[in-house]
Amino acid sequence: MDNPDSSSGANQSNEALFKRAGEVIPGGVNSPVRAFRSVGGTPYFVARASGAHVWDVEGNRYIDYVQSYGASILGHAHPVVVDAVQRAAAEGTTYGAPTEREVALAEALCERVAGCEMVRLVSSGTEAGMSVIRTARGFTGRSRVIKFAGCYHGHSDGLLAGGGTGMATLGLPDSAGVPASMVAETVVAPYNVVPEVGGDVACVIVEPVAANMGLVPAAPGFLEGLRAACDAAGALLVFDEVITGFRVGPGGASGLFGVRPDLWMFGKVIGGGLPLAAFGGRREVMEVLAPLGRVYQAGTLSGNPLATAAGLAVLSQLDDRAYAALTTTATALADGLRSAFDSLGVPVTVPQVGPLVGLFFGPDPVTNYDQARASCGTGEYAALFNRLLAHGVAFAPGPYEALFPSLAHTAEDIAATLSATLAAVTAP
Ligand SMILES: *Cc1c(COP(=O)(O)O)cnc(C)c1O
Repeated sequence: MDNPDSSSGANQSNEALFKRAGEVIPGGVNSPVRAFRSVGGTPYFVARASGAHVWDVEGNRYIDYVQSYGASILGHAHPVVVDAVQRAAAEGTTYGAPTEREVALAEALCERVAGCEMVRLVSSGTEAGMSVIRTARGFTGRSRVIKFAGCYHGHSDGLLAGGGTGMATLGLPDSAGVPASMVAETVVAPYNVVPEVGGDVACVIVEPVAANMGLVPAAPGFLEGLRAACDAAGALLVFDEVITGFRVGPGGASGLFGVRPDLWMFGKVIGGGLPLAAFGGRREVMEVLAPLGRVYQAGTLSGNPLATAAGLAVLSQLDDRAYAALTTTATALADGLRSAFDSLGVPVTVPQVGPLVGLFFGPDPVTNYDQARASCGTGEYAALFNRLLAHGVAFAPGPYEALFPSLAHTAEDIAATLSATLAAVTAP
């Protein structure tokens, strides 16, 4: 591959590191999809990254569409983020006392997302999901939760039913270690169909653009239908915007589509690559949280000084011009992928929602998890993935993930990606 990098540990190999990792970390990884089980081969161990590119320990350079599953919207090691984190670190990394930056970040989130009046900062999307459900239950005094097949809301017990992403990749409908009682109050409904919402439902939780079963946009009327069904039943509507938040536009999916939930989850983009997530919503609902109300929720590292510094730095870069640029890049990628596969007679669908791009093999649009599974089950993605990797392009190591072009991806990166795609698909 191009740009061999002499500075990145000349004696390292991915193979050796993966073997070493497997001795002390289950499967050699700290999150299952990284183990490459669904695409085969050995994961590349990243030595460093900059902008649109990552370099592995062997010195191979990849044009990176993983970007930490969307956490790095500016691209890797953006100087504004690096500087903010370095300066914050010098002032201490965690205190167990409130800081001004937490307030500034909460203000920045509430300013941008219409209807979100209060937020609480946490350290991962999983934590945001767990806490948002507890908040909805505490507020309504009800226990049932409706989620949608193929939507992923983190790995808390009650939400580990019918999930997408790694669970889909591993073909596990559920997880061992989760007692049936923990998901007994979780109803899984098909995506893009408004379910019946009964008077015992605390909340309906949805990815307003599903991005963990490949990319599946909400059908026209779906989100509006959920809003109406929740209102009729006195249930809360929760948008999981861990991926869409501050990516599909400054106001996230709720701003883009004009449907306002009662509660939101945010993550990925707002941490600028550090462990930070949030949940928020209407003041009246959020005030059930301790110390104001009786819903307990806490965290030693919540609102961490480094993470809030990174988050504020990222948000400072995300103006209208940035979103226009992201969408232009994503459109070039999506259009280019469509014509590349088209020219080779390989039927694919390439869904796009602003800066988010997906890829499904097969001729038919995908609107739910069953269709996503049919498309992803063919093995075609694994072949493409491995050939692209050999050509210096890193897509996610599983067919259920979206592509995350960043603000650092240039027209040259997109052009190189498209010629790699042509070469990959035509390879014998
Ligand atoms: C990534 C993700 C989560 C979980 O976030 P973690 O930080 O990985 O725990 C939740 N919801 C959605 C939509 C996600 O994409």
